[in-house]
Order: sequence, then C-alpha cells, then structure tokens
Amino acid sequence: NISWLLLLLVTIEMLVFLIPSLHHINGLASYAPLHTIFEIIAIIVSLMVFAIGWGVPAEKRCRNCMLLAVVFLGVGFLDLMHALSFPGMPAFITSNTHEKTINFWLMARLLSAFGLLFIAWRPWHVVISNKGRWEMLIGMLFFLGVLSVVGFKYPHLIPSTFVVGEGMSDFKRNVELFVITLHAVAAIKFFTLIKTHHVFDMAGLFSAASVVVLSEIYFTGYTQFNDVFNLLGHVYKVIAYIFIYQSILIVTIKNPYEQLRASQNLLQSVIDNIPLRVFWKDQNLKYLGCNTLFAKDAGEKMPKDIIGKSDEQLAWHDQTDLYHIDDMAVIHTMTAKLNYEEPQTTPEGNRIWLKTSKVPLIDINKKAIGILGVYEDITDKKNLEEKLYLTYCAIEHAKNSYFWMDSEARVTHANSYACKSLGYSLDELVGMYVWDFDTLHKPSDRLPMWEAIRAERVISLESMHKRKDGTTFPVQITANFMASGDVEQVFCVIQDITKRKQTEETIWKQANLDALTGLPNRRKFQDQLEHEIEKWQRTQLPFTLLFLDLDNFKDVNDVLGHIKGDQLLIEAAKRLNLCVRKLDMVARFGGDEFTILLSELTDTDIISGILQHILEVISQPYNLDGDVAYVTVSIGVTCYPTDGKNTDELYANADQAMYAAKANGRNSFSYFTPGLQEIAKTRMSLANDLRHALTDNQLWVAYQPITEIETGKIHKAEALVRWQHPKHGLISPDQFISIAEHTGMIVEIGEFVFRSAAQAVKKWREVYGANFQVSVNVSPVQFNDKCNKFKSWSQQLNEFKLSGGSIVVEITESLLLDASAVTSDKLIGFSEAGIQVALDDFGTGYSAMSYLQKFDIDYIKIDQSFVNKLSSKSKSKYQALALCEAMVVMAHKLGMQVIAEGVETTEQWELLKGIGCDYAQGYLISKPVSQDEFEKLLKNKTEHN
Ligand code: C2E
Ligand code: CA
Ligand code: CA
Repeated sequence: NISWLLLLLVTIEMLVFLIPSLHHINGLASYAPLHTIFEIIAIIVSLMVFAIGWGVPAEKRCRNCMLLAVVFLGVGFLDLMHALSFPGMPAFITSNTHEKTINFWLMARLLSAFGLLFIAWRPWHVVISNKGRWEMLIGMLFFLGVLSVVGFKYPHLIPSTFVVGEGMSDFKRNVELFVITLHAVAAIKFFTLIKTHHVFDMAGLFSAASVVVLSEIYFTGYTQFNDVFNLLGHVYKVIAYIFIYQSILIVTIKNPYEQLRASQNLLQSVIDNIPLRVFWKDQNLKYLGCNTLFAKDAGEKMPKDIIGKSDEQLAWHDQTDLYHIDDMAVIHTMTAKLNYEEPQTTPEGNRIWLKTSKVPLIDINKKAIGILGVYEDITDKKNLEEKLYLTYCAIEHAKNSYFWMDSEARVTHANSYACKSLGYSLDELVGMYVWDFDTLHKPSDRLPMWEAIRAERVISLESMHKRKDGTTFPVQITANFMASGDVEQVFCVIQDITKRKQTEETIWKQANLDALTGLPNRRKFQDQLEHEIEKWQRTQLPFTLLFLDLDNFKDVNDVLGHIKGDQLLIEAAKRLNLCVRKLDMVARFGGDEFTILLSELTDTDIISGILQHILEVISQPYNLDGDVAYVTVSIGVTCYPTDGKNTDELYANADQAMYAAKANGRNSFSYFTPGLQEIAKTRMSLANDLRHALTDNQLWVAYQPITEIETGKIHKAEALVRWQHPKHGLISPDQFISIAEHTGMIVEIGEFVFRSAAQAVKKWREVYGANFQVSVNVSPVQFNDKCNKFKSWSQQLNEFKLSGGSIVVEITESLLLDASAVTSDKLIGFSEAGIQVALDDFGTGYSAMSYLQKFDIDYIKIDQSFVNKLSSKSKSKYQALALCEAMVVMAHKLGMQVIAEGVETTEQWELLKGIGCDYAQGYLISKPVSQDEFEKLLKNKTEHN
C-alpha cells in the first residue's frame, strides 16, 4: 500500500513538473488561510508525534523514539513560527516578511533532516532514562529558544533567502537542496534497515523521509508563495508527517497493544491447555476466573460462567467449608499451601480426589486480594495407589514366596515370606543371584533362561532352594515376565512343595514299592519287564527272569510268628539285592515269592554263578531277635525271548521252572525247558480228568504192609491211593495229590480212601486179628475243609462197627505248626474216638519237639531220606543212624512208637532193629499192592507163621 502511495506521489510530482501549463497557475486567491490550515495540520501532527513519543511507558522508552518525538516537538514549534510569520498573517512579534517565514521554515526542515539522519544511524535498542528524556526535552526547548531569538531578533544573521520580485535566493535553494540530500540519505538508510530491522517501523520512516524529499523538491521549484508547487509541497509535507505519526503510533501504541493481546491470548491458551485445573478467587472467595477444565469440573460450559460464583453454588457445595478454610488461611497468612490432597464432589455426585495448591493473589501494593488455585484430578492415581497398596499387602502377607529378579538374575525385591522361608533378611536377599540360593541353577543358565521366560512370558518349573542354614527344600517356581518401559524384570512365585513331593513320593512308593521290604513291587517289576522287552526290540539284548519261592517260609511264620517272619523276608530281600548287579531288579512278588530281572544277561555260566550265590546266601541262618531260622529257596529261570514271548508267558514259565526246582527237592534252581511246559499241560489235563476219576471208578486203594520189627509180623497197612487212568495208565499219587489238593477234590478222594480202608480193616480184623490197623494219609486241606459234607470218621467207624483203634491218621508236621482251632478240634475228636495219629515224613519239616507233646501223637514215621542213608554205600550212614536213633529214643521217651519208611534192604532192617525202631515199611517187605494181593500177602505170612 505504502509503495503504491509513494508511486502515486512521485507520479503526481513528475506530472506537475512536466506539464508546463501548471507552472502558471499562480496567485491562488487567499492562499494564506489555506497555507495556515496545512501548517496547522502539520503542527498538530508534529505535536501528536511528540505527545505519543513522550508518553511511552518507561520500560519501552527507546532513545531514538524519544529523539524523534522531541525533534518533532521542535519541528512543530518552528512550523508554528513559520505559519505565524507568513506574509498575510498578522504581525507576529516582529513584522512578517517572506524572509522571516522562510527562515523558520528552513530551521524546521533542517531540524527534521538532522533528526531523521541521526536516528537512522543510532542503535534502536537503547532505552532512555526518565532523566535523559527530560534532558533531551530541555535541550530542545533551549535550542528552540536560541533559534527563536535568531529568527525574531537577528534575522540578518541568516543569508537572504528571498528577494521580492526575484523569488527565492540561491542560498535558500541550496539549503533546500541540502535538506533534500540529508532526507534522501536518511531515506536510503531507512530503506536498508527495512529488511533487517523489526524493532521500529522502518518502512514508515523510509516513506516519511522520501515524501519529505518529494515535498522539498516542490519547494525548490516554486517562484511565488502562492503557486501550485508551494501548495503541493505543503500537502506532501503533511503526508510525510502523517507517516512519522503513523510509525510512532505503530511502535508505541499499536505494537505494544498487539503484543499485549497476543501474550494475553497465549496466557489464556496456556491456562486452558495445561492439564491442570486453574482458578482464582477474590477476597470474598468469589470466582474471578478459571480455565476450561475447571469450568467443566464445576459443571459449567465456559470459564465465564464461573465468574462471580462461590463454592456454595457449584457441584462441590458440600466441600465449601473445607475449601474456604484453606482459602482464608492462604489469604490471611499470605503463604502458599502446596500439593495437598482433598476430596471433591463432581456434578454427577461422584467423589474424586484432588491434589491442590493454593497461592495468594497479591496486588501492586503487596496486599492479598484473593487466591490462585491449581489442582489435578488424582482419583485414578489414588485408586491405583490403593490397588497397589492392597496388592502390596497381599504379597507381603502372603503365605507364598514372591520375589522380583532383574535381567542379571539378581533379586530386586522379595516379600517377607520369601525372606522367612530362605532365612535371609530382605537386605541380604536383595542383590543375591538366583544361583546363590537355587541349587539347580548356575550362572551359565541365566541367558537361556532369560530368553525362554521372555519368549514364553510365563514359565513354570521345579527346583531346589537352599536356606541360609544350608538346608534345602523343593520348590515350584512360576516366573512371570514383566516389562515396563525399557525395564524388564521377572516376578517369581515360589511354592514350597516339600509336602507335595513327600505325598508324591509316598504315592509312588505305595504304587511301586513293597511296603515291607522296600523292594519294587509286582507292578513296578511288570513295568520294568515291559521296558526290557521294548529294549530288546531296539537292541536285541536278551534278559533273564528268575522266579524265587522261599522253601519252608510258612514254617518260620507259623513257629516264630508273623513279625519275625516279616523280619526274615526283609533280611532275605537285602541278601537278594546283594547278589545282583546295580542294573538288575529284585522285586517282591507277594508272600515269600520274589522275582529278579537280570538285565542284558543270558550267559548260563554267569547266571548259574548268581543262582548258586543266591542259594547260598538265602540258606544262611537268619537271626531274628534271638531266634535263629533257616530257609532255602527254589528258583525258576526263564530267558527272554527264548522262554516266552510276553510277560505273562515268562511269568508262567518261570513259575513252572520254580515248581520243578521244588520238585527237585527244593533249595535248588531249575531252568525252564519245553519239557516242563509239557508237565504243566499234563497237570492241567490231569486236573480235568481227576473230576471224573472217582465216579468212573478209576481210583483204587493200594495197601503197603507195616511190619513189627521184633516179630516180623504185619501189624498194620498204609492205604495209598492209586489212579488207573484210561489213557495214561497208573498214575502215582505224587503226580495227582497236589492237583487234588489244589482243586479241593482231595476231600472227596480222602473220604473214598477212608471208606475203602475202613471196609478193608473190618474184614482183616475179622480174619487176621483184632488189632490190625490201617493208616490213612490226611492232607491239611482235608483238615481245613469247613463244608462238613461228610459224616465224621468216628461216626462212620461206629456204623461199620469198628473201634477207633482200627484206623491211624497220617498227618504231616506242617499241619501241627499251622494248628488252627479247627485242626486241634479235629485232632482232639480223633483222640476221643480212639483213632491214633502218626506224624508222617518226620525229620524233613520244621521239627518242633514242643508240638509232639502238645498234641496227642502215637507214631512218628521216619522219612525215607533218613532210612535211605542207612547203607554202607552212603557216606553219612552213621550220621543218619545217629539221627534215627535220636528220633527213636525221643519218641519212646514221649510214649510214641516209631515206623521207619522206605526200608528196602535187610541192612536197613538190621540197623533199625539195632536202634530199637518199632515198625518198618518198605519194598523189603512189599510194595503197595491191591487189596486182594495184600490179603494173599497176609495169608502167606500167617501161613508161614
Ligand atoms: P507217604 O505217605 O510217605 O507214602 C509212602 C510212599 O513211599 C508211597 O508212595 C510208597 O509207595 C513209597 N514207598 C514205600 N516203601 C518204599 C520203599 O521201600 N522205597 C521207596 N522208594 N518208596 C517206598 P506212593 O504210594 O506213591 O505215595 C506217595 C505219597 O502220596 C504218600 O507219601 C502220601 O503222602 C501221598 N498219598 C498216597 N495216598 C494218599 C491218600 O490216600 N491220601 C493222601 N492225602 N495222600 C496220599
Ligand atoms: Ca504216609
Ligand atoms: Ca511218608
């Protein structure tokens, strides 16, 4: 805009100079008043420049501005002098002449020129003091005084400027040219400052100086006071002054106001945009203002809605008293109350928490005129704090251990339970490395562990923790990865799982171990066996299964009681464990049965070595709390995969082999062979056939004579059952009695034998003598039979009209040892009926002498194994003889008679006779024979005699 104006002014001026016709518009009618008006305008503008410049507030008083103001005071004054001195105006102090008015004119122009030139080069940022301002003003006034004196009193000191009739002098024109030059120089300087200088309105000053130049150019051209040049010169001068005025107005008033408004806007936007609530109240605690957030909290839309209200009128009227106490305290004490927490009710009626600060509002006189308050809503923070506190309490008082660990695996914090359970104080624990108390972790685990937790976020593992005192306990650790910002840590929950481990162990033991011996049980052994079979499928490494059964263990149990029996089993288990290698397994299969798995072993030599060793150690005496017991063991041996394809087959075959060992006379081992399997099969089919044997009359009774040694007479016979099998021919009782016992058929068979024997003895008593006796073998199974299907034997004898003495019952020692109430009752029943009792196979079992006394025994039958040895071929002939003699002596002492079994030679006969044995039974006299043949035998004997 300014450029356009300047261009317009230049154009007008050029036109005025170029259009000659205009030069002749001279002698404007009544020019003096017009001139006066222009000058008055110029003077007023000058004075306004001074007035504005002078009144600038102290801190903004720029020296250049002040100079401009004071210069224009001078310019205004001189222009006034010029106007009043104008020809045509009433005489002013002295008479008015062209010279007088031009003098003042030139003074004004020069003053303005030097003033502008001066400020154009002086720095703008310099501030002038109040004193400096006054000095400047007084200096100016003094200078004006001097000029006035010169203008009025000594005008001749100034060279002539105007010659009437000729127009302006050369001096005047030169001065004007000088003024033009000075202004032009100032204008150029101002122009250069436009771009770089922003403190002052350089464009305005440039325009002013330029227009002055244009104005002065007019004045160089005029010939008469009232011509068009003079007129336009004055118009341009006024325009120039207006530029000055404009500049100083902009700088001193407009700019500061704009700055003020901008800073106010800034302040307001700061107040509105800070995330705090800001409010200020007057002394009467009425609101003076607030920011938008505060207005919203109060339930109002705009900050202006709050102004003039008091707390009673706002949402939090309930808290009015609370707030006012603080407000008044701040106002009265003039001290701030900072950062305290207080509640507030929201427009919705909720209670929130604030963190408030209040400071006194102080006026210029340092008096409190109200308060300024700031608060933030810390409800969330407070809730969080509360939650944190609760969490802290829960963790701190929990009965579990918690700790935090940094990426270095160092404990950063722990709860008190963690400290307690590890036995460290918190100070000690914090900073410890995990491996300082975790025995399963080492420093090298840190990195992989950390990466794993980081990837999985949550990891659960079991480990072992070590207390300060060195004791350890198992723990379950749950490690939770936590990251906040770039801090990564792990939160560990530690559970002491000692109890759980113990129960697990107990459960495992109960499931896998035998409670008595601590050996693996059947189940565990089965697992191991299956495992071995699997292993074979991979490695082709065979293994051996041993099946062991203690011989005579039942006797120990019966004689010494279960507690000592248990002790023996424990000891036997220990001994077995010592016979095998670490990788082998000894298990208790049940009762007195054990199994052994010899891993990766089928070499018969080695196995035989182990077996011999087992036989030897098991047969060592057992010291059971003062009692000494002996047992032996029978072992069945099977090898995988040759002796069985699966565990069932292996067990079955090992069991069979074990039976074979038993049959071999016990205290021995037997390998499973296909032959043994055949026997087992036969046993099964025999068991089936035996069911029909009685009804199909396949059973019959053989009798073997028992001879009195002294007389050689047959006094008795033993009834021995025989089975005439339709397919297999004659089967010996050794083969089928145990089957019969197993199946229970022995009871019926026993009855059959008894009836046969009774019938036979009835006949023989009638024919061969009233004292003849027949002995009948009675199995323990028969004794324990509770079904009472049959009449008692004494009753049956009564029906046969036979006395009890005609029958002898043969029992084994084990029956006595097992003596239950039923057994004793039956024995007493026999004795009452006069039925005699013989103790069969004497010397082979657990011969307990006390039992011989306790029960009413009439005969003992020395076992064949002793009689066998009574031969010159036997190494232990005399030992055996001594034993037999001892038995005879003892029996006689107890009032019993002795029958020697298995007497096959006359040598035996003679020896037995020599030691006083009462009866002999054996092939020497006769094999067991049928009833008919036996009768022939009796007949011969009696005929012989
Ligand atoms: P046991 O009671 O010891 O019977 C004697 C066995 O010795 C009989 O075998 C008999 O034939 C045999 N024997 C007799 N004298 C001699 C001899 O000089 N030399 C040799 N080497 N042996 C001789 P057997 O008849 O085979 O009976 C075997 C076993 O079967 C019996 O042994 C007995 O325990 C049982 N038994 C036989 N019959 C019955 C029965 O009716 N009931 C019950 N419960 N068991 C029976
Ligand atoms: Ca017998
Ligand atoms: Ca016998």
